[in-house]
Amino acid sequence: MQINNEKLYYVGGFVRDEILGLQSVDIDYCYEGNAIEFAKNMQIIRTNPDFGTVRVVLDGQEVDIASTRIEIYPKSGHLPVVKTLGCTLFEDLKRRDFTINALAKNTVTGEIIDYFNGLEDIKNKKLRVLHDLSFIDDPSRIVRGLKFSVRFGFELDNSTKKLQDLYLSNINYDISYHRLKKELKETFSLNNDKAFDKFINQGIYRLLGENQLIPRVEHNIGELNVQFGSKYPYMVYLGLFDLSRFELTYEEKEIIVNFERIKSSMPEDNISTYNLFNKVPLESILLYAISVNYEVAINYLTNLAKVEIATKGDDLLKLGIKQGPIYKEIFDYLLACKLENSSLTKDDEISMLKRRFGL
Ligand code: ATP
Repeated sequence: MQINNEKLYYVGGFVRDEILGLQSVDIDYCYEGNAIEFAKNMQIIRTNPDFGTVRVVLDGQEVDIASTRIEIYPKSGHLPVVKTLGCTLFEDLKRRDFTINALAKNTVTGEIIDYFNGLEDIKNKKLRVLHDLSFIDDPSRIVRGLKFSVRFGFELDNSTKKLQDLYLSNINYDISYHRLKKELKETFSLNNDKAFDKFINQGIYRLLGENQLIPRVEHNIGELNVQFGSKYPYMVYLGLFDLSRFELTYEEKEIIVNFERIKSSMPEDNISTYNLFNKVPLESILLYAISVNYEVAINYLTNLAKVEIATKGDDLLKLGIKQGPIYKEIFDYLLACKLENSSLTKDDEISMLKRRFGL
């Protein structure tokens, strides 16, 4: 189904990305008025009447159409509530985070609506909030600013930087950590160490909670994540901090718990290194690498983790050894030998075990 309505606009990241010449993953539409009413003849997937949003199929693709809305923050830093649905486009754009995200484009005329000088800021590579209370309303915008700054190579405009500094010098910790976590995860999934440097140097890490210790990192976390294929790259940045204020998934908790468990151990040979890291999530080992002992962890990941013994159960049967607890003893012994000398062949292994177990 085609739509042709002058009250329907592209908004937010889509318009920004188009101006920047970038491909946007999703298209956000905004209808000046009631979007659910507007979409009533379309193929509707779902609606959220509280927020006035509707998901529809448009040209074979699922897209969201939002009603223009005014939001208010009854409690600073907590989720906003909708005050008015179907307000003017101006009011809707005014509730947004940065001027570069407060642009709209008319779907019919193609006209760009730019009430807050977003186009100028895009040209000057500046991130500017729309009003002085912006970070107080929603401090997760500070992390969004960090995300956009590394993604696009933009800088905070001076007055916005001052507002950020002011907020970070007097943080309200009674906020929505859910939102903050979403933004942190997106930011550090960019796997970019510049984001990490800014996170520390600008004091943004303080948002995570009081009394955070500043980690000293001498290695490029992004490169390590890529080299070893982390599934949760953001955790190799964030796991260096105290995350107790955040609700973590099972996998995220496992990374932290394992890192806590191993971080004060200092193995002295290959066997104890292997035993320390065996079955530990990769991200915990990388956290160990960057904050405890790089060489030990990298030796495990590049060498020891790949060590395999060539002798199998069948070989032991052929040697006339009856199945039983002795098998584990033999395999442990061979693994220990192989960890010390990875060039051992199967013949070497067999002769060693014959000697050791008197076969
Ligand atoms: P991305 O490319 O990362 O998706 P985006 O700008 O599209 O970037 P979304 O999180 O999808 O980001 O948000 C869509 C739009 O909603 C933004 O462009 C912005 O206008 C507005 N927005 C999102 N989060 C906030 C926020 N915390 N405060 C104010 N406006 C926000």
